[in-house]
Amino acid sequence: MTSLDYHRPKTLDEALALLTKGVPLAGGTRLTARLRGIVGLVDLQDLGLNRIETTDMGIVFGGTATLQGLVEYASHLPEDLARAARLEAGWNIRNMATVAGTIVTGDGRSPLLTVLLALNTELQFAPGDERVPLDEVLGRGDDRTRGKLITAVHAVLPDRLRYAQVARSPADRPIIGVAVGVAQERAAVRIALGGYGAHPQLMSWDETPDAQEAADQARSMLADAGDQWASSEYRAAAGATLVTRLLKELDLE
Ligand SMILES: Cc1cc2nc3c(=O)[nH]c(=O)nc-3n(C[C@H](O)[C@H](O)[C@H](O)COP(=O)(O)OP(=O)(O)OC[C@H]3O[C@@H](n4cnc5c(N)ncnc54)[C@H](O)[C@@H]3O)c2cc1C
Repeated sequence: MTSLDYHRPKTLDEALALLTKGVPLAGGTRLTARLRGIVGLVDLQDLGLNRIETTDMGIVFGGTATLQGLVEYASHLPEDLARAARLEAGWNIRNMATVAGTIVTGDGRSPLLTVLLALNTELQFAPGDERVPLDEVLGRGDDRTRGKLITAVHAVLPDRLRYAQVARSPADRPIIGVAVGVAQERAAVRIALGGYGAHPQLMSWDETPDAQEAADQARSMLADAGDQWASSEYRAAAGATLVTRLLKELDLE
């Protein structure tokens, strides 16, 4: 067994300096199973980045806020955001796994990533305090953080939010999941499709589509979304149905 250097910085500056000697360790639920090739760990738990707060603009999660922290903050969150955090994993994992860890490692089957995409979420990075839209970061594939730290996650609160999924059982990870966020009356509608692939996908358009156009676009985006969990035909049909259903629930037909 090779040895591993463990660092536990007390400040963000110390942590950033240590990134040349190791990778960030948050909840460790993913990292500790994949230590091969890693020479050092920079434990983030003493940095005080676990706050969750509601602001005029929306919600801010510190990078090390746990998934269970989100669940317990439910009374201040859109109901389906807290539900997505609960669906992400069981209680034990939720108590350790962090929001940033989930963003770095989460795939298309992540309910939380799907909902965060529909919320117009930005990630705050250190060093530099740069804020980058979540969809841009997810598009970077395995290299999502590029040697930086996610210090905070800023989610814009929509007027309304809905998330629905189809899974093998009510608490299982989705085969197909759809999140719809509606802001500025009906002027800003964001729809994210999850349940497959490397990360959830954001639907895009020039003019807000009606329910039929949105369902057609979802069907076309899911045309090649077949894998071991479901055929592309199943996902396209189920995804279009969920989009139609959620837009109807939100009076956006
Ligand atoms: C038994 C078990 C069951 C699981 N079930 C599920 C499941 O159902 N669904 C699911 O999605 N996942 C599941 N996972 C995987 C895991 O729980 C998630 O990927 C988790 O969200 C990772 O978060 P973490 O805080 O534990 O990250 P860590 O394991 O600490 O880190 C993961 C990656 O993120 C990087 N990282 C962490 N924080 C930051 C930061 N602030 N800035 C930059 N980089 C950072 C780390 O360097 C590492 O590369 C499971 C894991 C286990 C062990």
